[in-house]
Formats: sequence, C-alpha cells, structure tokens
Amino acid sequence: MGAAGKMGSAVVKAVSQDSTLKLVGAIDNNNIGTDAGVIAGIGNIGLNIVQATDPLKDSDVVVDFTSPSVVEQNILTALEYANHVVVGTTGLNNEALGRIKEKSAQAGKNVFIAPNFAIGAILMMELAKRASKHMDNAEIIEYHHNQKLDAPSGTSLKTADELAAKSVNIDGETEIVKGSRGGLHNGIRVHSVRLPGLVAHQEVIFGAAGQTLTIRHDSIDRVSFMPGVIAAVKAVSGLNGLTIGLEKILDV
Ligand code: NAD
Repeated sequence: MGAAGKMGSAVVKAVSQDSTLKLVGAIDNNNIGTDAGVIAGIGNIGLNIVQATDPLKDSDVVVDFTSPSVVEQNILTALEYANHVVVGTTGLNNEALGRIKEKSAQAGKNVFIAPNFAIGAILMMELAKRASKHMDNAEIIEYHHNQKLDAPSGTSLKTADELAAKSVNIDGETEIVKGSRGGLHNGIRVHSVRLPGLVAHQEVIFGAAGQTLTIRHDSIDRVSFMPGVIAAVKAVSGLNGLTIGLEKILDV
C-alpha cells in the first residue's frame, strides 16, 4: 500500500529483488494502471498499480507506507483480509494503536510497526538511551525532506520516550517567538527541520558541565530502510499480535 510513493516504490524494488519473496500486488491512489516496477525504476514487472483491495486476497503480508491520515484504516482492512501487516507509516496515536491491537487479536494476524527501519537509526536510539543514563540533559533535532506531513517525526518521539535524560527547564524563560524552544515530549525538547535535499536525519545532543555529546544518524537514501523492511516482512508471521520497533526483531 502506497506502492507509487517514495518509500512504497523502494519496497516494490526490494521485494522484487528478494529471491524468497513474491510481490503479488501494488496498491496506491496515484499512478493507477502504471506498472509498479516502472515507478520503482526496475522496468516492467507485470504488476500494475491498482486502487482496489483485490490484491489483499492473494497476499500473506501487506506493507504500508502511505499517509498518517489513512494508515489505521489500511491496517484494519489488511487484517480483515487475513494478512499480516508491516507498517512504516508514522503518525499513529495510542488510541489507534489500541484499536489495531484489538483487531489483530480478533483476526489472528500480526502487525509490526517501526517508526524507523534503518539499522543505523536503531543504533542511534540505543546509544542515546545508554548515554542518557550518564548525562542528565538532552534535546533532539530531527531533519526531514520538505514533503513530510507529520512533525515531529515518529523516530524523535520514540527516542524521547526512551531517554532517561530530560531537557533543561529554565525558570523565567520567555519564548520571544512561539515555538523557538521546540515541542516538549516526555520532558524532551524536539526541534523539527524541513528542507528540500534532506531524507531523514536526527541528532540527540547531551549537555553536562563543560562538555556535550552529539549522537547523529543520517539516512541519505531510502535504500537504508529496505533491509529492515524485508526482515520485518519475513519475521511478522512469527510475532504475536502488535509489535512496535525494529529492535524487537533484530539483535542490537
Ligand atoms: P509519499 O507521499 O511519497 O508516498 C505515499 C503514497 O501513499 C503515495 O503514493 C500516495 O498516493 C499513497 N496513498 C495515500 N493514501 C493511500 C491509500 N488510502 N491507499 C493506498 N495508497 C495511498 O510518502 P513517503 O515518503 O513514501 O512516506 C510514506 C510514510 O512512510 C510517511 O508516513 C513517512 O513518514 C513514513 N516513513 C517511514 C519510514 C520508516 O522507516 N518507518 C521511513 C521513511 C518514511
């Protein structure tokens, strides 16, 4: 789902090139009738983009890289058609996750969600978590391309959730321009940069007396996410209900 998009077309390519997986359908609202392989830059693969749910009848696993506004419904539909689901689309809130968990249990099919499928990003979060046990204060700056619909990024929210550190609270601080100090999530200031030329990047900056530590990850090409997506597609049938985070299926 989202097969004509930036991430979806990269998934079309990665699944097509994996000898143990078979691509059986490509769903999108855009580019209907165009061969999915042509959009993915690998030439004709004999599978046109369709808008219908027909491919869900023939598949074991559905991968969703669509949009925050439609992802919940897409997951519920995929479960109705007895598919396991791998989700990269960000922006799902806790209420939506609760409904997805319930539906997954009813359907007896699993859902795997990762805010970030890049192994380097998982390591960045793990290392930041470790650093936060030793340095009390931190802020996050996340950088993404200029078409990203949700801010802050799912990765930055997950990082903030896991840090033992907090951002400093300055008594009497005044924001001359509203938002200058970023958004506050779990006590951590998160700053979102959106610019053409960027893909997906994040810095976690720690500060202590006389020193700072910056842990930074850069996805400079969407190919960085594909080993994680393929690993999830292969692992999802062996999971149990709803699982969130690539670290749950990788030994990091
Ligand atoms: P994109 O806009 O390039 O692609 C989204 C595609 O989904 C479009 O082709 C659109 O037509 C299609 N779409 C929209 N509604 C649909 C529906 N109801 N059914 C089927 N297709 C539909 O966006 P993108 O850059 O590929 O990103 C997609 C999502 O993935 C975003 O939420 C983004 O934040 C997220 N993302 C996650 C990761 C990760 O590692 N988890 C990495 C990059 C992007």
